[in-house]
Amino acid sequence: MTKKKINKKELGKLLSQWSQQFAVLTPTRDGNGSRMAPWDGEDTGFLDWYRNTTVSARAVFQPFAEEMFRFQKDGDGYHIEATAPEDRKRLLFGIRPCDARALTIIDMSFKDGYEDPYYLTRRNNALLVGLGCTNPRETCFCTSLGVNPGESKDVDLMLTDIGDYLLIEEVTPAGSDLLAQTGGLEEATEVDEARAREATEAVQGKVTRKIDTKNIQEKLLAGYENREYWEQVSAKCISCGICTLLCPTCYCFDINDELVKKQGTRFRSCDSCAFSIYTRMPVENPREEKWQRVRQKVAHKYEFYPMNFDVIACTGCGRCIRLCPVNWDITQTLESLPSGSAT
Ligand code: SF4
Ligand code: SF4
Repeated sequence: MTKKKINKKELGKLLSQWSQQFAVLTPTRDGNGSRMAPWDGEDTGFLDWYRNTTVSARAVFQPFAEEMFRFQKDGDGYHIEATAPEDRKRLLFGIRPCDARALTIIDMSFKDGYEDPYYLTRRNNALLVGLGCTNPRETCFCTSLGVNPGESKDVDLMLTDIGDYLLIEEVTPAGSDLLAQTGGLEEATEVDEARAREATEAVQGKVTRKIDTKNIQEKLLAGYENREYWEQVSAKCISCGICTLLCPTCYCFDINDELVKKQGTRFRSCDSCAFSIYTRMPVENPREEKWQRVRQKVAHKYEFYPMNFDVIACTGCGRCIRLCPVNWDITQTLESLPSGSAT
């Protein structure tokens, strides 16, 4: 497997080169937070401040709002003008292993039964260049979900910080092709590879928050009807939905029509099971009470998704802990699940 390296001072040149072929997105500051956004052609300072983006990389593939089609009404009825799925070739530079894994997880849902052309067209036209973590946050618990913060099989190329250089490793055939076409790289030496291995091992030790996922599905099932427990753990939640909107593995959306005179647009926007008005359009929300909605959020990730796709729909990125305005903590909930006793 080919391994190359690039001096960090040359990163701008590398991104410029890739920009000839792709729309390149990098971690970018946005107000008080950050997101993956089009590279400005110059700045590589994110290497110094970036830990993970506030808005997960999912938003590149499932934007908060998007147009699906336009329609017009006349005497013959409705005429639909489809909005072509966005098929720009994109390269996401610096995606973290937890967020890359999250995309692999939600791909399953967007491909299941009905293939979602909007999401999948973006996904199929994107290359992921991963960047291993060096400084996880206290809220990260990725290692408990089988994610190694220093490496990833969910990207096309994987980069590891080895000091003055970034080691570049090919992961997929698409990554190999890109590497073969890329100029200005140096061959990695055995010393570089040893440094990368050390960095990957060291960063795993920095993820100190842990949860025990053994038998988690059984535990959730046993405590599912324990209303007293769910009321207690959901008490401080204010149903703002931030945890789900920023979560890389949540993907619910709502569909609306906007009609002005006889011209309309159908669009969809991200939705949240934390909202009391969730699903109220087709029927009443089956989870009117807050404790039911908090239970749904946890059970969907740790019980229902594994039932359907054999994988837990959480990567331990910690956003839902760090960005919750009332410090609700999914790890505390998972670690305090009752053994049963319905009330
Ligand atoms: S971010 Fe916190 S307060 Fe808001 S819905 Fe999620 S758990 Fe509740
Ligand atoms: S549930 Fe929380 S920790 Fe898990 S992937 Fe979503 S935001 Fe990250």
